[in-house]
Amino acid sequence: MSTKGVLVVISGFSGAGKGTLVHNLLSKYDNYALSISMTTRSPRQGEVDGVHYFFSKKEDFEREIANDGLIEYANYCDNYYGTPRSYVEEQLESGKDVILEIEIQGAMKVKAKMPETLLLFVTPPSAGELKRRLEGRGTETAEVIDKRMKRACEESEGVEQYDYIVVNDDLEECTRQIHQIIRTAHNTPNHQMELIEQIREELKAF
Ligand code: 5GP
Repeated sequence: MSTKGVLVVISGFSGAGKGTLVHNLLSKYDNYALSISMTTRSPRQGEVDGVHYFFSKKEDFEREIANDGLIEYANYCDNYYGTPRSYVEEQLESGKDVILEIEIQGAMKVKAKMPETLLLFVTPPSAGELKRRLEGRGTETAEVIDKRMKRACEESEGVEQYDYIVVNDDLEECTRQIHQIIRTAHNTPNHQMELIEQIREELKAF
């Protein structure tokens, strides 16, 4: 059995509850490691450097790109966002399933470089529910909610390239489903090729 972890991308409409889901997954099971992205955007209130993101200057971000220190990066709303390579590789090697909570362009780049990556897309059960959730937060103006609803439509472009669509109707049920999908991914040929190669070698001795 391969002891290497599975690389998992979780994307979804903003307001779909990805953050809460990932948090729930990490607190319930101990086989996960969450990748912390690097970004050039400013911290929001309550965001902590090294916890929510590695907040960095544009020059530092560009140096990381030049040094091939990022698995992928994207320019999103005038800021860079990227996934640091070393943490992800170390954690996968140590057997952890590594979660990247990134948008769709980044997801496609990761899949192109590392085809064994599992791509999950989280959606609320309906557009009406998405709107209710955004309104329920009580933090956004009607105008911002409107913008996010429009962006949600763009965010669904390319969703057919994901491996699974997960409906986040009930948080606990959705968390369980995601965990199950990831466990199953450990048994795909993609993930077990090393073992198969080893058995092939061993078989030669018979
Ligand atoms: P926010 O500014 O709201 O924290 O994030 C904006 C978007 O960037 C979200 O869709 C988030 O998933 C995405 N994002 C966060 N980190 C990364 C990353 O490392 N790479 C890419 N491609 N997108 C990211």
